[in-house]
Amino acid sequence: MRRYRILILNGHRSYLTVDFNHTCTENNIILIYILSYFRTGPAFAIPDGLANRRTDDELKLGGYTPMEAHAWKKGGCLLAPPGTLAGRWESRLAYVQAPWHEPPKIMIDKREKAISVHNDIIRKNEHIAIYTDGSGYQGYIGTSMVIPAFGKQRTECIGTEGTSTVYAAEACGIKFALETTLQIADQNIQTKKLVIFSDSQAALRTLMNPRMVSGQTYIHDCIDSLRKCIDEDIDVTLRWIPGHEDIPGNEAADRAAKRAALIGARRQIVPGDMDNWTILAAAAKRRIRQSTKDAWEKQWDKQKAGKPTKKLVPQPSKRTLQYWTFLRKATSSILIQLRTERIGLAHYLWRINRREQPYCACGLSGQSVRHILMECPLYENERGLMWSRIKGFRRTTDLQALLREKKAAIAIAQFIIDTRMLDQFREVDPEAVGTYESAETAAQLEPANDKDTDVGTCTNAHADDIFMRDTGYVDLKRTGAVRRT
Ligand SMILES: [Zn+2]
Repeated sequence: MRRYRILILNGHRSYLTVDFNHTCTENNIILIYILSYFRTGPAFAIPDGLANRRTDDELKLGGYTPMEAHAWKKGGCLLAPPGTLAGRWESRLAYVQAPWHEPPKIMIDKREKAISVHNDIIRKNEHIAIYTDGSGYQGYIGTSMVIPAFGKQRTECIGTEGTSTVYAAEACGIKFALETTLQIADQNIQTKKLVIFSDSQAALRTLMNPRMVSGQTYIHDCIDSLRKCIDEDIDVTLRWIPGHEDIPGNEAADRAAKRAALIGARRQIVPGDMDNWTILAAAAKRRIRQSTKDAWEKQWDKQKAGKPTKKLVPQPSKRTLQYWTFLRKATSSILIQLRTERIGLAHYLWRINRREQPYCACGLSGQSVRHILMECPLYENERGLMWSRIKGFRRTTDLQALLREKKAAIAIAQFIIDTRMLDQFREVDPEAVGTYESAETAAQLEPANDKDTDVGTCTNAHADDIFMRDTGYVDLKRTGAVRRT
């Protein structure tokens, strides 16, 4: 702490006085604000004008900002769900705890140890045990704190899935527990120590090292209460216990949190309560992601072109894009042409009036993607080689299954190069073939969470992105690449 004080004083070419020292110790909060002064980035997650529409007079003067227009004119996804809240967007501080502060007493043990320590504490009966939980239920977020020994509990519905998160509810439960701890101390029940049991490692870890997380307001209140506990010499420890282990106190907190959420779902919330609701940036991000996904699916349905692609991909998702990850230029180029059937083969060229007839040189049928990949006797050898290169996927006559299979992608592209049937790929730089990374690097970089509906890395090509050259072969403009930030 001394170091920080001196740093600040040096900045002002001043020296450490007893007064300043005293002020720093007594009012840590001042230093936190001094540190916040050096913040970078916006103070508010979302501008005020998105939570509350500015008056007509104000709008007449300056008009909508682009984000306001998105919310108010187009009914964009950032607009709060109608009738669900009257609260505010969260704002976040650069620091909620001075870096020199001692971290609170928080214990996160391994599963078995956490349970046995919990059982010991209950058996010895020297502590007052408080349990907290947060829960998402029927679209609403509930939070709870229960003290089985006193038959006491506090619950609240803190928002909907559109405005809040379960993580925030877990933090809010701990906040309730700490506030109750202070009340208990006021009532002079000081004979015992207190333990707060939470089943959220995420919330506890954030308390140990608070950052600019979404839901920081709850963490901020926790830290405040913890500091008061220290000031008043209250012995309080926070401990992690695993959820769903039939620990009665934890189960009671779980039920209480669900009940709180249900109060929201049944619309039994007092309107005044909703004023306290904070709209979290994390929930807003989720809404943006969802609305992007919805727009994508809608566009996919509406799109009339690209029938071959639609056969391969009935509904777009993050997994759709994974097919293209780590493929080098020539390989992905060939695969896009095959999968969209916009390719310099006779059948397609004939269809767009660039050839007199659609037939393959073998004379057996039109030169289509199916014909060359599955049937044409002219490429028997290359096809045999292709199948031998595909590992972990059985030989099939189902063209769509083959083109959908990521394990087959590189072998298929190599087949096209081997056959030299497309002028464009007669001379291919070996550097442009195959994948970018070795398989293990690729596995590491692969998105860990499949359920996430994020628009991930990679390329998404539509038939529209492809244009024909007069020479008769197809070139490709790779567009629509969205990089995750
Ligand atoms: Zn043929």
